[in-house]
Amino acid sequence: MTQEIRVRFAPSPTGPFHIGGARSALFNWLLARKLGGKMVLRIEDTDRKRSTPESEENIKAALKWLGMDWDEGVDVGGPYGPYHQMERLDIYRKFTDRLLAEGKAYYCYCTPEELEAERQALLQEGKMPRYMGKCRNLTPEQRARYEAEGRKPSIRLKVPADEKIIVHDLVRGDVEFDSNGIGDFVIVKSDGIPTYNYAVVIDDHLMHITHVIRAEEHLSNTPRQLLVYEALGFEEPVFGHISLILGPDHTKMSKRHGATSVDAYRRKGYIPEGLDNFLALLGWAPSGEKEIFTMEEAVQEFSLERVAKNPAIFDFKKLDWINGQHIRRMAPEKFFELARPFMIQAGYMTGEETGEQLEWLKKVIATAQTQVDYGAQIPEKVDMYFSDDFDFENEEAAAVLKEETVPLVLRSLKAELEALPAVDHDSVKACFKKVQKGNKLKGQQVYMPVRVALTGNQHGPELAEMIPLMGLERVEKRIEKSLAKAGIRL
Ligand code: GLU
Repeated sequence: MTQEIRVRFAPSPTGPFHIGGARSALFNWLLARKLGGKMVLRIEDTDRKRSTPESEENIKAALKWLGMDWDEGVDVGGPYGPYHQMERLDIYRKFTDRLLAEGKAYYCYCTPEELEAERQALLQEGKMPRYMGKCRNLTPEQRARYEAEGRKPSIRLKVPADEKIIVHDLVRGDVEFDSNGIGDFVIVKSDGIPTYNYAVVIDDHLMHITHVIRAEEHLSNTPRQLLVYEALGFEEPVFGHISLILGPDHTKMSKRHGATSVDAYRRKGYIPEGLDNFLALLGWAPSGEKEIFTMEEAVQEFSLERVAKNPAIFDFKKLDWINGQHIRRMAPEKFFELARPFMIQAGYMTGEETGEQLEWLKKVIATAQTQVDYGAQIPEKVDMYFSDDFDFENEEAAAVLKEETVPLVLRSLKAELEALPAVDHDSVKACFKKVQKGNKLKGQQVYMPVRVALTGNQHGPELAEMIPLMGLERVEKRIEKSLAKAGIRL
């Protein structure tokens, strides 16, 4: 029987859930789902100052929103819990006792000031700052003296000298580190809480993780973790470090470039399908040309072999385009739900509408579905149905109304529309035809000035769709307004 694939996402709940974290979670999730494996969600909450329950909730909510579930972990439980590191202190303690008893780890009584002094001295000598092992071989008397002074010890792992540590990385190949550059590092802090590099190894081992897929930022931690695997006699998992995410200027992605939290994108009206698709492409490429895919399709296609080594560039325009493509594919009811909070915020609806008014709103909102890349853009695409306040988009648009035939077009259209028993798509279309044929004009000579006079723009939804929604009263008002602005009398 082949071994079951077990992956984990192990966030530290210390702030807003970053898109980089979402990308790591997604690659793990895709791998688990592709290979019929298990996904574990473990919360690494050992940073007591910065971890908050709100952040944990935010991470879980964002994962769910993005459509990622987990088979074991916080909330859902599982055979290898608990899944909060702070609830596992007893477990770590047992392993630490073993390391201490075997002489693989030792108590260190150095104060932060002493450590800082050592660091500075090494830096001055042009050497790599690291712990030089002052407390490695303390006598029982020395220990007793420190204890009597009230010093609280940390626990350090003995790092062997002159060892080559090789990270066999699925994405980057073999990456070599030298143990001499590491120095005995702290595995348990003086408050009894394990450090990340220590707890992560025990947890990944006890949770039977087979593949550790995480961000490249952690590659430099991996040799330390391998030393812990070695000291504890654990078999190491497969590692895969996925590339950094850079901003469009090729520097590390940060707030300077734009929003970095999943929540910020959700609030702007990006949709999970779009964001997932975009995140999947940050470092992974499907084998074909296809750029737009669903989560199911990504699961089918996903493989770590197609995860690239070079940095992924966060291209905001591409995100918008991809999200827009997924918006086009939404069911109209879902698009309406996406629009709702933005429309309420713009004051264009209350959310309490019923009957005819609700039907009208639905039709109005539907006109935006082909035009926007994310939800926050919806109100501006429909504001012509709610207000008569508008300007020409540019000089070119204003110039359209200066054409000689414009007064004739607008006058005849007005007459035709007013004569209609019912203003709907087909009847309005017929009016346009009549105006065009009756005055022997080209289609453009009719449609363009009407569009500009109505909206100030040269592009937008089909006029026969727009006019019935706008209603004749507003149509006339808007045309009058444009003409006044352009200094034209009918
Ligand atoms: N808690 C670590 C982080 O959020 C996990 C890193 C890992 O996946 O090993 O960066």
